[in-house]
Amino acid sequence: MTTITGRFAPSPTGPLHFGSLVAAVGSYCLARRAGGRWLVRIEDLDTPRVVPGAADEILFTLETLGFRWDGEVVWQSRRQEAYLAALEQLHNQGLLYDCACSRKEILASAPHPGEEGPIYPGTCRQGLPAGRLPRAVRIRVPDRQSGFIDGVFGRYEQNLARDVGDFVLRRADGMIAYQLAVVVDDADSRVNQVVRGADLLGSTLRQIFLLENLGRPVPAYLHLPLVLHADGSKISKRNGEGDNPLARGGEMIKRALEWLGQDIPGELHTAPSAELLAWGSDCLAVGRIPATHGNCR
Ligand code: GLU
Repeated sequence: MTTITGRFAPSPTGPLHFGSLVAAVGSYCLARRAGGRWLVRIEDLDTPRVVPGAADEILFTLETLGFRWDGEVVWQSRRQEAYLAALEQLHNQGLLYDCACSRKEILASAPHPGEEGPIYPGTCRQGLPAGRLPRAVRIRVPDRQSGFIDGVFGRYEQNLARDVGDFVLRRADGMIAYQLAVVVDDADSRVNQVVRGADLLGSTLRQIFLLENLGRPVPAYLHLPLVLHADGSKISKRNGEGDNPLARGGEMIKRALEWLGQDIPGELHTAPSAELLAWGSDCLAVGRIPATHGNCR
């Protein structure tokens, strides 16, 4: 039988906020419930957004709350070689092309952005226009319906060409795009259960497309209800928003489990965080997780 390997992959753009904590609790309890491994990866690839000290603070918070991870923490900033090898593999299959377009040009030519942002109109698909210099590297996506079954949200479909467009794998600033880094990391760490916030539901078919072309196995995906502000905007670490879970450890884990629809026994309502995590690791019921986006209480 294959061992379940889950992971939590925070971006160190600020302290762990409630939305991230929900992803940590969900991924942890589901991996442990299956008798599996749980890994932590710091997604510090997007260096301009990285806040110094935030990664250590997140790890400290996780540890203090009672999370225990397997193996060493993986740092994306140290994995450039693996990403470049994957980029080359895709390049050798003729799937990639240089793109000269600036964001402003794309916005101007794609005035009706899709759910996932502006849809690239394919300007450089057949080669760079005369006199233009390459900026980013994009991958050609197929014009056909694709889908997967999410463990919480059920069947999710997209036509990558129509709904997303050829997407960037290496950005104009030379940085490897999140979509590529995440699949290379998950594949190299043998992650086979991806549990994360529903804001990434719309990225999943791009990631599956990359995995298939890299010849790597596709994990199971479970997206968790996203934590939103009362006005519907996403809770963001960048603005330093949200509760600091350390201040009220047990209460925060209890709230995260409740956010995931779990029915915590009364005697555990005031239990310390590690005890609540142990309960979740035995009892977290996937069927109770609501496939909705809700407002933060
Ligand atoms: N780093 C992303 C975040 O903090 C999560 C990426 C993932 O789980 O695939 O929102």
